[in-house]
Amino acid sequence: MNYNEILDEIEKQLEGEAHLDELARKKQDPFKILISTILSARTKDANTRIATERLFAKYDTPKEIAEADIEEIEQLVKSSGFYKVKAARIKEVSQVLIDKYNSIVPENYEELMSLPGVGSKTANCVLVYAFKVPAIPVDTHVHRISNRLGWVETKNPLQTEKVLRDTIPKEFWLKLNRLFVRFGQQICIPIRPKCEICSLNEVCPKDFSMEIAMRSKKKK
Ligand code: SF4
Repeated sequence: MNYNEILDEIEKQLEGEAHLDELARKKQDPFKILISTILSARTKDANTRIATERLFAKYDTPKEIAEADIEEIEQLVKSSGFYKVKAARIKEVSQVLIDKYNSIVPENYEELMSLPGVGSKTANCVLVYAFKVPAIPVDTHVHRISNRLGWVETKNPLQTEKVLRDTIPKEFWLKLNRLFVRFGQQICIPIRPKCEICSLNEVCPKDFSMEIAMRSKKKK
């Protein structure tokens, strides 16, 4: 199967809509997409959704967040976990946007990466979901599934991003994260993937070597 057929097959199996996808569909402000992506680190979509909506119901501009009381921000984003770190981070990012970017989220990778605490995954998410600029945000799902499918043979998300960028035609970049994140939450889950119901079962090489290597490294 080619990339197009595999991605189509994945799409057919999915239910619902991921939070960033929903924000993109509703053409939400890039600032909200940036903050939501920061809040999404190491938590589930449902928690990110609650935190984002609670925060933006009260404060929805860089100025308002930069000037807000840190303890109040912490309470508003509490559901996203690591809330003290995340509250400090989004206040800091808001201040830098005001100081350096006239309160407008930049539309290119280098400037996004210059924001405090913004790494490659977040920068690429903002490009894809806020601006529809082709990019490949690689989170744990994209990294894991790309390895299982045999598209890459890599040890970490940054390596995966590089190989995918070199091998996947650009026309598929915008939908890769959108599909793999939900696929990784619903079927190709981290532990005991549901291969028996997956329509790629026959063609998938099920390469778990990256995961096995990671697990044995953790045990040492
Ligand atoms: S067959 Fe299994 S490992 Fe392969 S994509 Fe489907 S769920 Fe993932």
